[in-house]
Parts: sequence; C-alpha cells; structure tokens
Amino acid sequence: NFCAIDNLQGRLQTLLRDARQEQHDGKVANYIPALAEVPADKLAIAVATLDGNICAAGDSTEPFSIQSLSKMYALVMAMQLQGDALWQRVRMEPSGQPFNSIVQLEWERGIPRNPVINAGAIVVSDVLTSHYSASKNTFLMFIRRLAQTEQIFANAKVYASEQQHGSRNAALAYLMKSFDNIKSDVPAVLAQYFHQCSVEMSCQQLARSWLFLANRGVDPVTDQQICSRKDAQRVNAILSTSGMYDQSGEFAFTVGLPAKSGVGGGIVAIVPNYGVIASWSPPLNSFGNSCLSMYLIHRLAEELGLSVY
Ligand code: GLU
Repeated sequence: NFCAIDNLQGRLQTLLRDARQEQHDGKVANYIPALAEVPADKLAIAVATLDGNICAAGDSTEPFSIQSLSKMYALVMAMQLQGDALWQRVRMEPSGQPFNSIVQLEWERGIPRNPVINAGAIVVSDVLTSHYSASKNTFLMFIRRLAQTEQIFANAKVYASEQQHGSRNAALAYLMKSFDNIKSDVPAVLAQYFHQCSVEMSCQQLARSWLFLANRGVDPVTDQQICSRKDAQRVNAILSTSGMYDQSGEFAFTVGLPAKSGVGGGIVAIVPNYGVIASWSPPLNSFGNSCLSMYLIHRLAEELGLSVY
C-alpha cells in the first residue's frame, strides 16, 4: 500500500496547508459566465495508486468542470476507432501556441499540431461524431466505466455557455472543414466537443479513471485492457510534450510527468508504474494552467522523486 509507505495522506494535508499560504496572481477562467462563478478558494488533491488505493485531501470529492481534461478520454476513444489513420489527420508535435490558436492551421492545411490543442481535439470529436450515433452518451459511458461510477454528468449550464461563446472553436472547425479534415457537420462536431468539456468530475474520480495510463493501458483494478500498451505510451508522450498548454516544456523541466491541464483548474499527472495525481484549484496563470494545482503537483513530485527523466 503506497499510501501507508510514503505517509501520503499526511503529506497531502501538509501540501494543501502550504498551498493556501502561496502567493499567486491567478484568475478564475471567465470566458464563460458559468466558470467565473466557481469559488476561487476550492482546493483539492487526490492520488490513486496502482494497488487501487486513493489518498486525498481538500475538496477531492467535489465535481468540477473537466474542460480540456476531457481531451485525453476522447483521444483514447478515437485511437481505438481509427488506429494509425488518426495520425494522418492530426500530428504529434507541440504547437508552441496558445491552446485555441488558429494561425498554424491555415499554413498547415487544416492538420492540427496535436490532439490536445483545441483544433486537434475538434478533429478527435469529429472521429467520435462520425462513428457513433450518440457520441455524447458513448463518451460519458466510457468515462463512467473508467471511473467505476455512474455519478458523472455534463453540466447543462456550462454546455449552453460553451455553445454560446464558442465562436473561436467554430472558426477552427470550419477552417478545418474547408480542408476536408472535418467529415461530419460542424455543429454536431462542436456539440460533441462542448459537451465533453462540460463534464464534471472530482479529483478522486479523475485520478481513478486515468490509472490505465500509468499501467500500460490496463486498468489495474478491474484488469480490463482499456487501450493497447503502445497507445498508452503514445498518449503519455503527447501529454508530456503538449498537455500543459504552452507551458509544457517548463512542466517537463520542473516536474517531469505526463500531464493534462484544463481551464476549470484541474491538472492530472501520470506517474508511470505508480499511479495518478489529480489536483484542482480554479485560479489560472496566463497560460491557462491552475497556479496551485501546478504548485501541489510540483511539490509532491519533488518530494517523492517522481520525475520520469
Ligand atoms: N472549453 C474550453 C475551450 O474550448 C476548453 C479549454 C481548455 O480547458 O483548455 O476553449
């Protein structure tokens, strides 16, 4: 039991206490009103280990908007559906641009740099929309299976807000459609994308549901093969180079774990052969990464010597 060995529970409590003292100038995401309403002082961390234990502290059972964390689940689903053909439609390079940037798309002829910037995630949404008649529901069912709970839902208010304020994502989708890299109707693809962003999960559910990525594609608790070993490696590689927006290099440098960030303030980091760390604090830095989630994961990774490099 890793929790007992490292006195993880005690460490997490201490880290949270220290995080509350940290000075930062983060701001809660306000591009849609529904996210701006989330209290800035929410704070949580959860660590799920391969033996099935979860150690947690703070608001770790409270669901919050997963936003871009949804890109991992959708990517794994699309990789299953398309195999290597997926990589004709989206590349695996860091973008060096903000997550919602449109500039590269035109000169790269509608092929996004990677599947975890918005353009790439919209291509992935297109794969799901084109393949499933009820892709939103299929997506939810996949997450529920991974988290081993039925209690995961999309937030209707966030979904409606994303739709209403989604002009930039629509622009990305239509530009890619003009290059024939979106097959379904753009509104249906955007609906899938906004829906997945509006799903809410807690840190404990997130940590639990990403465990297969720390275990070569196999869920260590249920023993189910969620994706191939090769695909698990590929997802980890993409998250290492591109998962933390345009701060991915710095995160690899200071923390050294594959991780994904979302503008809801969540960050999930994978510790291969050990487990998953999920943290949540709404205020974001200028890159869109949660200031205190970064702080918590950085400290924990340093104390336990978790860097993969
Ligand atoms: N719904 C957000 C958008 O598409 C997600 C952004 C994010 O978490 O990176 O702009």
